[in-house]
Amino acid sequence: MTKKVFIVEDEPDLRDTLQYNFENEGFKVKSFPNGESFLETIKNDKPNLVILDLMLPGISGLDVCRNLRMNEDNENVAVVMLTAKSEEIDRIVGFELGADDYVTKPFSVRELILRVKVLLKKRSDDIDQNLLEFGPIAMNLDAHDVSVEGKNILLTALEFKLLKHLLKRKGRVQTRDQLLGDVWGYSSEVTTRTVDTHIKRLREKLGKPGELIQTIRGVGYRFNN
Ligand code: CA
Repeated sequence: MTKKVFIVEDEPDLRDTLQYNFENEGFKVKSFPNGESFLETIKNDKPNLVILDLMLPGISGLDVCRNLRMNEDNENVAVVMLTAKSEEIDRIVGFELGADDYVTKPFSVRELILRVKVLLKKRSDDIDQNLLEFGPIAMNLDAHDVSVEGKNILLTALEFKLLKHLLKRKGRVQTRDQLLGDVWGYSSEVTTRTVDTHIKRLREKLGKPGELIQTIRGVGYRFNN
């Protein structure tokens, strides 16, 4: 199936170069000069991956990424950030913003294409499997069951969703706010303390491997790999 790549870049020359090269590689491409037009389009038209410039006029690339990740419908959209600022990288990848990879400007288009292909391959493998694994923990999303060291454990629907969310994003920190939004759905009833309580219960049910869920003090949680 043809993969769809969206490009958000305000520099016209770079945008055209990327569009041309990705089309040449057989991708279906749409490009956008700003984050606003991109965010409007993805309401109805989702790409497999977006190449997102960090420095944009109007909404910054960081806010575009945050906005994208706030909506669970965009769960399968991979994000590669284009950045000139290397000091921002920790925040961009795996941290609060949830980009999957980044390339620092200036970069070679060949390198970017390679990274995109690797990322898309990895993503489609994960989606095909419907099986999420981490160490001794395995989740079968179709059968809706979870096992630890081969033994089934019983989780509530919410714990299942929480575990799925963390496993799908293993290695990336999920903030309490993100977890609230994605797992609970925003509601005034729940507070970030609710997240802590459920993580604690989930850890207990997982037993020893529950320790694989790391607490990032003051930020959130992650499966560290
Ligand atoms: Ca720019």
